Amino acid sequence: MVTTVLDGKVVSEAMLQSLAQHIRTIHLQTERDPGLAVVLVGDNPASRVYVEAKKKACAKVGINSFDYRLAPEEGEGALIDLISHLNADPDIHGILVQLPLPNGFDQQKIIELINPSKDVDGFHPMNVGRVWQGLPGFKSCTPYGVFELLRYYDVPVEGKHVVIIGRSNIVGKPLASILVQRAAGANATVTICHSKSENLLKLTQSADILVAAIGVPGFVTADMVRPGAVVVDVGINRVEDSAAKSGYRVVGDVDFKSVSAVCGPITPVPGGVGPMTIAMLMKNTVESFERHIAEVNK
Ligand code: NAD
Repeated sequence: MVTTVLDGKVVSEAMLQSLAQHIRTIHLQTERDPGLAVVLVGDNPASRVYVEAKKKACAKVGINSFDYRLAPEEGEGALIDLISHLNADPDIHGILVQLPLPNGFDQQKIIELINPSKDVDGFHPMNVGRVWQGLPGFKSCTPYGVFELLRYYDVPVEGKHVVIIGRSNIVGKPLASILVQRAAGANATVTICHSKSENLLKLTQSADILVAAIGVPGFVTADMVRPGAVVVDVGINRVEDSAAKSGYRVVGDVDFKSVSAVCGPITPVPGGVGPMTIAMLMKNTVESFERHIAEVNK
């Protein structure tokens, strides 16, 4: 059987190009550009990689990225001051605080301090709640990326059983909130599984679309997948690899080799959900910018 790879690199690239065109058009009319503040506290190597990738995407589409680096020793107060400054800055349309924050920082408090109208990560409870209610609001970028990737490849979702392994606030729960809506590209029956779920095997085998967001390399094996089911691997895990220059390689939560032999379309890692996440961050930032322009012109 030939495996269909749901190529997040190709789809995100197409989205970034179309966003770039859109930004150029708005610029011609308004002489203004979107701005994204990227805040990194500390020196977590994975976070640094993500932040650089986000800045690169900004440059590609024409979003001004404003870089803020804080040392953990500066404390939560410095971060709170920075966020209130960014909330008030009319040239900043999106605020991204790279998570996780170092020990001693109250992550939830920080998320809730970001003005929901600039919360382009879609983590503020206001946006989370709005999305659950089917109201306009910023969707979290990773689940939004999964949704758009499935849509791009015309993967049927309506009426299908989507089983998500993982109930985090950044992947599992918000993905359910998007796919369960009465909306085009959604209308799914969604089951969220987690570490306390009983009969996990039975649940995953009943999935038309299986989403893995666990954080355990190769957790999903072929026996867990119904033949022909769609498999979405959200996992990004670093595993030691002495053959790699960096000393590690990135793998997903799905054992791609065995699973791709039985499943239908599947996302690779890297090159699947990861690039889509960044593209959706750009999309949310442009949406915020457009709302801002509309407000100003009222
Ligand atoms: P998390 O640690 O917050 O959540 C993991 C979830 O897995 C939990 O809800 C837990 O209940 C569940 N789980 C753990 N062990 C289980 C088991 N044995 N059976 C069933 N469920 C189990 O993780 P997260 O932040 O949601 O991230 C999950 C993965 O996705 C990680 O690899 C992370 O790096 C990756 N991720 C990728 C992107 C992206 O852009 N592609 C974005 C965010 C997270």
